[in-house]
Amino acid sequence: MTQQSIYLDYAATTPVDPRVARSLIRYLTQRGQFGNPSSSTHAFGRNAARAVETARERVAALLGADTDEIIWTSGATEANNLALRGVMHAYARKGRHLITAKTEHKAVLDVCRQLEREGCTVTWLDPEPDGLFSLQQLAAVLRPDTVLVSLMHVNNETGVSQDLNTLGTLIHSHGALLHVDAAQSAGKLPLDLRILPVDLLSVSAHKLYGPKGIGALYARRRPTRVRLEPLLYGGGQERGLRAGTLPVHQIVAMGKACEIALAEMGIEQTRIRKWRDWLWHGLRDLEGVELNGHPKPEHHSPNILNLSFSGIAAEALLHALPEIALATGSACNSAHHEPSHVLRAMGHDLMRMRSAIRFSLGRFTTAEEIEYTIDAVAATVIRLRALSPMWEASPGGLKQHPEHPVDWAAPSNMV
Ligand SMILES: *Cc1c(COP(=O)(O)O)cnc(C)c1O
Repeated sequence: MTQQSIYLDYAATTPVDPRVARSLIRYLTQRGQFGNPSSSTHAFGRNAARAVETARERVAALLGADTDEIIWTSGATEANNLALRGVMHAYARKGRHLITAKTEHKAVLDVCRQLEREGCTVTWLDPEPDGLFSLQQLAAVLRPDTVLVSLMHVNNETGVSQDLNTLGTLIHSHGALLHVDAAQSAGKLPLDLRILPVDLLSVSAHKLYGPKGIGALYARRRPTRVRLEPLLYGGGQERGLRAGTLPVHQIVAMGKACEIALAEMGIEQTRIRKWRDWLWHGLRDLEGVELNGHPKPEHHSPNILNLSFSGIAAEALLHALPEIALATGSACNSAHHEPSHVLRAMGHDLMRMRSAIRFSLGRFTTAEEIEYTIDAVAATVIRLRALSPMWEASPGGLKQHPEHPVDWAAPSNMV
């Protein structure tokens, strides 16, 4: 294997699908559809506008939304900013209380911290050790002046997947709105906003085989319209909610990526889940391996596996495996070498946080890559532990004793 030849960091970003790349380049040059979709006086503009609307239909179809509920943004970060800031400013007369969780992505946490500085009150929920939120705890903090609750669907570090239906029903019964950061679940898990009690939802193209720099915010319009204060003012695009000339090539590409995801989700996720379960079953029998996630498969996304290898610093393991692209926590945390705020909020100890590795699989992951990864990680864990004073200090004491049995099915067919 050559350096960095195995990519297991799909939760950080995905490569653009070649079918998506082919659609993107048709909207750039003079021979393509390069027009400004706001130019309604000529065919160049009208053709570009049509391409944007087709893409909007595809994003809406993936989410079970109507086209007028989709607002283009530069990604999930901007969608989160627009949802949180947009709602808290538009509903300031109803109240200034907002609920979120300590396990959210920085693109929600930092917006909430800024809203606190601007006078909002934020309640920060802790999950249970399995990553789920307790309905009792949520019910206890909902107040008459709670405007919005923001909770992610699938956690980007652990893969824990929340039950949006029960959370949303509770939140609505208290008269508050629910925003969901679905950057990790859109295109991977079924989402149907016709049924789900969700008012706002953020998606990002580069997590689903589209390009970086494009995403969307879903904002419910029926039966009642969610009001939003824009972040950007200008040419009145997106019904005045997000000004700026639409990046047609990126929008078309996101539409194509969503169309492919909708058509192939079932087969693709079955395959990815099989490789992921194979990886888990290949590594779980090493001593001192702990799953950072939910033991039940229905509360865990099929593509993420976060494991702690007792006695080994995650950086040391990654350093010893340069041919496999893996992450310690999220891309944002690994840049700062901070222990994961997500694992900390789940109540895990420092050793478990410092030894956590995230494996995230995707469309182009192969059986051979998983086979190689199991062998290489297992051999490296054993070799590093032989050198580790932390491991020797507690002989046998680090063997895994999970509080809850992990009941992911053993993969039936390993190749
Ligand atoms: C990647 C990610 C984001 C940021 O999305 P961008 O499109 O890169 O801004 C936000 N939330 C979650 C959960 C993510 O995984």
